[in-house]
Amino acid sequence: MHISPFPNVLSALGLLLRGSSPTSQSGGPSWLCRRCRHQQIGLKMYRRQSSSLSKRYDVIVVGGGHAGTEAACAAARMGAQTLLLTHKIDTIGAMSCNPSFGGIGKGHLMKEIDALDGICARICDKSGIQYKILNRRKGPAVWGPRAQIDRDLYKQHMQDEVLGTPGLTVVAAAVEDLVLGETTVQESDLTKQRCHGVVLGDGHRVISDTVVLTAGTFLRGTINIGLTSRPAGRMGDEPAVGLAKTIENAGFKMGRLKTGTPPRLDGKTIDFSRLNEMPGDDPPSPFSFINESVWIQAEDQVMCHMTHTTPGVDKVVMETMDLNRHVKEEITGPR
Ligand SMILES: Cc1cc2nc3c(=O)[nH]c(=O)nc-3n(C[C@H](O)[C@H](O)[C@H](O)COP(=O)(O)OP(=O)(O)OC[C@H]3O[C@@H](n4cnc5c(N)ncnc54)[C@H](O)[C@@H]3O)c2cc1C
Repeated sequence: MHISPFPNVLSALGLLLRGSSPTSQSGGPSWLCRRCRHQQIGLKMYRRQSSSLSKRYDVIVVGGGHAGTEAACAAARMGAQTLLLTHKIDTIGAMSCNPSFGGIGKGHLMKEIDALDGICARICDKSGIQYKILNRRKGPAVWGPRAQIDRDLYKQHMQDEVLGTPGLTVVAAAVEDLVLGETTVQESDLTKQRCHGVVLGDGHRVISDTVVLTAGTFLRGTINIGLTSRPAGRMGDEPAVGLAKTIENAGFKMGRLKTGTPPRLDGKTIDFSRLNEMPGDDPPSPFSFINESVWIQAEDQVMCHMTHTTPGVDKVVMETMDLNRHVKEEITGPR
């Protein structure tokens, strides 16, 4: 099986590994991130040591990115005692890539997640700074809702949502290994192993019948800038190496996709008067079916701008292709 960060809706909600034990006995005196306790005690409680964790949960989600927050909140909403393990609480809801949500294709995905009572569309309605339906000249089936998002607002609202979800425990910890059961051989010579939980960086084991992996770009991730390459989950974050080894040892085929990240430009260096203005919609349409409007007034939305490369830029790019490791060595992607 090929593991990639975001190939389809199913993996957007995580790679699901189910254990065999028919009963689950989570609960006990665990410190749950219930809304009332969140408000009373503040963020500190989410940073507890792994030693204070319960031994067993109904569902463990690894990774607090886009997929992990959806998976963890969905499991908790369904009544499962859920544990979200992620490297840093501060990066829950971090938007690693460009500061927008939706667009052609991804806008549909967001609507589908929203229809399943997901959280991302609702959070976007509280943190967008420009909303636009793309492809509006064509029929509604191909419309692409897209919003430019204020990264800080998104992260703040996402953390409030996740840390305030009843039944969801959130702990900052690295998952280094999986608790795997004995290998059984199937009729077709396929081997099968069951996952019964996770092992944290400090050796602590947490048991669960259901483990959802949403490690995003972190599984043995690398950052390439020009010809330089270094291990990283994303800028400023370490990659998940131990977990990648476990997945590989379990017989999964590992692949690599590239994000194809464009250069970030400093707005202060751009003469916007020479660019084409791309205003937001009036009125802006919410992503979530539950909302009738978004938090921002139409006239307060930021302006987007479009520009084009010139033959001069094309020439520089073509002449420096050999200085780009992405182009030279890694042809799969983007994403
Ligand atoms: C620089 C950059 C540019 C990108 N550009 C785009 C773009 O333009 N468009 C686009 O669609 N996508 C882009 N991407 C990809 C995008 O970030 C991912 O598709 C998206 O974030 C995947 O969401 P996710 O929830 O699967 O994982 P992520 O958002 O990557 O989150 C994974 C989370 O899991 C945690 N984690 C991972 N391993 C472990 C572990 N072993 N233990 C504990 N926690 C763990 C991490 O700390 C992180 O919080 C870009 C990525 C980067 C880094």
